Amino acid sequence: MNCSELEAHLTDFLDGQLGPATEAAALEHIATCARCEAVLAGTRAVIDLAGDVGRVELEAAGRERLLQSILHASRSREVPDGSVGSAERER
Ligand SMILES: [Zn+2]
Repeated sequence: MNCSELEAHLTDFLDGQLGPATEAAALEHIATCARCEAVLAGTRAVIDLAGDVGRVELEAAGRERLLQSILHASRSREVPDGSVGSAERER
């Protein structure tokens, strides 16, 4: 499993909805990937916090949005300055 596959499965992983083989693959990737480990920990922490404080049940859509914002934050930290923007430069 790679990072994008893990991201695609992350909400199901947190819900315990993955099959045993997929879950094992996810765990294996998380064990070797600091970024996905951090994303998983961050997502879990926010979901736990939300559940603790207000007993708010995050709907799947809300969780997906939360996940995307965490992923976006971790990505923008990793991208070196200008490496993306300059590729889009017009002639
Ligand atoms: Zn990863």
